Parts: sequence; C-alpha cells; structure tokens
Amino acid sequence: MTTITLSLPCTNPYFLSSSPKRFRFNTQSAQLSPSSSSPLQSPPLPKTTGVIVIGAGLAGLAAATHLNSQNIPFLLLEASDAVGGRVRTDIVDGFLLDRGFQIFITAYPEAQKLLNYQSLNLQKFYSGARIFYDGQFHTVADPLRHFWDSARSLTNPIGSPLDKLLIGSTRIRALVKSDEEILTAEEVPTIELLKKLGFSDSIIRRFFRPFFGGIFFDPDLETTSRLFNFIFKCLALGDNTLPARGISAIPEQLAARLPSGSILLNSKAVSVDLDNSDSPLVRLQNGDVLKSELGVIVAVEEPAAVHLLSGRTGPVPKKPVRSTVCLYFTANRDQIPVPDPVLFLNGSGKGIVNNMFFVTNVAPSFGPPDKGLVSVSLIGLFEGVSDEELVGKVVNELSGWFGEKMVSKWNHLRTYRIGFAQPNQCPPTDLKKDPRVESGLYVCGDHLTSATFDGALVSGRRAAESLLKDRALTAA
Ligand SMILES: Cc1cc2nc3c(=O)[nH]c(=O)nc-3n(C[C@H](O)[C@H](O)[C@H](O)COP(=O)(O)OP(=O)(O)OC[C@H]3O[C@@H](n4cnc5c(N)ncnc54)[C@H](O)[C@@H]3O)c2cc1C
Repeated sequence: MTTITLSLPCTNPYFLSSSPKRFRFNTQSAQLSPSSSSPLQSPPLPKTTGVIVIGAGLAGLAAATHLNSQNIPFLLLEASDAVGGRVRTDIVDGFLLDRGFQIFITAYPEAQKLLNYQSLNLQKFYSGARIFYDGQFHTVADPLRHFWDSARSLTNPIGSPLDKLLIGSTRIRALVKSDEEILTAEEVPTIELLKKLGFSDSIIRRFFRPFFGGIFFDPDLETTSRLFNFIFKCLALGDNTLPARGISAIPEQLAARLPSGSILLNSKAVSVDLDNSDSPLVRLQNGDVLKSELGVIVAVEEPAAVHLLSGRTGPVPKKPVRSTVCLYFTANRDQIPVPDPVLFLNGSGKGIVNNMFFVTNVAPSFGPPDKGLVSVSLIGLFEGVSDEELVGKVVNELSGWFGEKMVSKWNHLRTYRIGFAQPNQCPPTDLKKDPRVESGLYVCGDHLTSATFDGALVSGRRAAESLLKDRALTAA
C-alpha cells in the first residue's frame, strides 16, 4: 500500500509544511506530476498538503475551480474514464450522443458566472413545444419570443385561454422573486401548486406532465414546487440550448481551466477516514492511500456519497430515485419530417414516449452533414423490457406521430438506460443543505441543492467555501 501526500511548493503563506512527497505541484502552473519525472525535484521547496476532491462531475469541477481560484492545491479524483459525471457525450459513428436528454438553460445563474458561453457555441431550441394530442400536433409558444405562434395557440385544445394567461402570471410571480426566496419558499408538490394556481386538468395532462415530468423524470409531478419555480424562472429568462460539441463541452470547459495533472481519472475512492484528526485519508480501489491536510470534498452522486460517508451524515430519506431511458435513431436528413429545432411532447396520455426531438435540427454538428439524429426519452427504467422490445414500441408509437413511411427508415443507434438520473426532490426538501460534515470533511453534489447543472455548480462552490472558511484560508 502506498501513501501519497499532495504537495505544493509554497506560493503563499498558508502552505507551510514539510511532509514526505510523492506528487508535486509545479509552482508556475500548479501542475501535479509524479516526482520521479518532475522537473521540480530539486531544490526541495517548502511544501504542504492540499485538498482532495472526490468525483469530477459538475459539483467536483466547481469545487476544484473555486479552490484553484484561491490558489489552493487540490487533486480531483474521478472513478470513470472522463470528467462530467452524468453530463457526458459519446461519439458513435460520427454522431454526438449525450448520455440522456439534457438541456442547458442559459439563465442558470451560477453557470453564467463560471462558463464561457461563447466558446460553448450554444445552439438554441425553439422557445415552446409541439404537443402530440388527439392525433395532431399543437404548438405552445413563449409569447415574448414567438408572439404570433402564441396568439395562434390560444384556442388550441392543450389548455383554455385562461390557462395560457395563467402561464403568463406564473411567469411574473417567478420573475419577481429572488432565487434564494424561490429555493427556500413554502413548498408543495408541483402538481398541487398547478392546481392551486387554477390550471385546468387539460393543460396539466397535456403540457405540464410531459414537459416538467420530462425535466424532473417525474410524470406524477410530485417534485417540489421550489424546483418548478426555479426552472420556470430560468426558462423565462434564458434560452434552452445545446453546446455544439455536445453537453460534455460544459464539464470539459471547466476541466480545461484546471492545472494540468490535477485530475486523476480511473481513480475510485473506496473510503474516507478521518484518522482521529481533521486530515482525512482517502483509500483508492487500487490500494493507494492519499493524505490531505486541508480536507476532503466528497462530490459523488447521492448513493455513492451515502456509501463513502457511511454514517457520518444524518439518515437519508428513502425516496425512489429518478430514472430515464434515451434512445437514439439516425436517418438521412430527408427522412427527418420537420426542420424545426423544437421539442415534441407526448400530450396524449398514451404510450411510453415522453418527449423527443430531432437533435440535428437544433445542432447540425451532432451528426454528419447528410444525416439526422433523433433523440427519444422515456421516464423510468423499463427494467422488464428488453432493448429490442423498447425500440419496437418506440418506432411503433412514433409511426403514429410522423407516419410509418418516415419512421420505418430510421436506424436505431444506441439506447441509454440511466438508473440514477436525479435524486428524488419531492417535499420535504432542503435545497440549501450545509456542505460541512465535520471539520476537514465536506460534501457537494446536486443532492445538496437543486438537481440541475446549476445546483451542482453551486454546491461545489459552497463546499470549497466552507472548507476554506474552516481553514481560515479566506477572509470569512
Ligand atoms: C439524463 C439526464 C438528463 C439531465 N438533464 C438535465 C437538464 O436538462 N438540465 C439540468 O440542469 N440538469 C439535468 N440533469 C441533472 C444534472 O445532470 C445533474 O444534476 C448534475 O450533473 C449532477 O452533477 P454532480 O456533480 O452532482 O454529480 P455527478 O454528475 O453524478 O458526478 C459525480 C461524479 O463522481 C464520480 N464518482 C462516484 N463515485 C466515485 C468514487 N468512489 N471515487 C471517485 N469518483 C466517484 C462519478 O463517476 C461522477 O463523475 C440531467 C441528468 C441526467 C442523468
């Protein structure tokens, strides 16, 4: 068993220590590299240990970004072969396949502070949706961005004219509140809020269930009204987009700004021990033990966090996690029935498809120039149904939407079954959980905040801030 201590040549007065070193940070770039090949082997410089962040999803990357901005040395451990966690994109036969249907809303407040939107080259969705109901498609549009579409939709059967006015007033209610107010407000399940606001059963079944049910992976809309209002506000203020290089461009942008060598991939932590001090030891699956004098931030998804923190946090409420299945199909571009970058929702109340869209209509870069990419999302895991059966059911269902002649020509490319898509965020929730487990040990991830990209980013920053405050490394 090897014990590894993270080290950094002293570049600021907080880092004074002289523990044995195996890895060493480069003073100029804070680069972590094995000492055997490091150009900084001699002369020895004053050194100290740093922070270990476990998990390189958005939360871990945000924690690392914050530590880096304060010149705090850290090592980011990631169990898998790349950064991003749930936000990953695969390249298959020249197509970009996001692991599940994911949308980046430009109004996410923490994301606005952290990300360079221009280099993400964000491709916009239509602001609204097309709903399959009663054998036809009906448009629901944002009146501020697509006034005429919205005016035309006033009389469609998706909801009454009153429902459409209520959408406007719900939007104003969300816009006048701060995010803090929204995330800590009195809460009820979203379905109750919608009924209380006066929405009709029709618009709830035909629009809200597939739309917000698809965002929360919760068709019953039991998710907290806090999350509903937060997303509603972000949707009103921003655009729904996809980065041109796939959703993984978001975590990759954060990772690219970290010191080279500060992320260790394929490095699964199996335990965190506090060693009777506040300098935790992290054991890796390969038997190595890492020691950190400044502290450990556990940035893994909720089930893995429960395991790693074994008993150090309070009881975890047993609520079912949210799952989804995403199927991708390819087609020639002339076999894509519409050119619009619009999200299609199943408002019929029948079948297994919740939502779908033509990815290459939103972002042509997701496929070769002459090809189209189709993304279809289901809610739940469909454990008893084989991949082949699922493809058959989906093709059959969408043939009813777009015609058998068109859909039968699509080729199934890949199916993603995502067992843990999001933690359950039904009331009661606490979307501002304290990241501090005890001195030296902190936790972050979307299970501490809102189960969104933004929530994960916020939670990472908060965990880093809490650690730095405990260590008196920042002006509190
Ligand atoms: C299909 C899908 C669609 C989504 N759509 C949206 C959307 O449209 N908009 C939105 O805002 N949010 C969406 N989300 C939610 C959003 O992706 C998550 O809330 C967010 O990415 C969570 O980030 P995280 O860092 O908390 O966790 P994760 O992304 O799960 O990161 C945890 C990381 O820890 C690593 N890890 C786990 N155990 C260990 C260990 N023992 N040692 C080392 N590393 C470990 C994991 O490999 C992983 O990389 C979606 C999620 C899914 C799955």
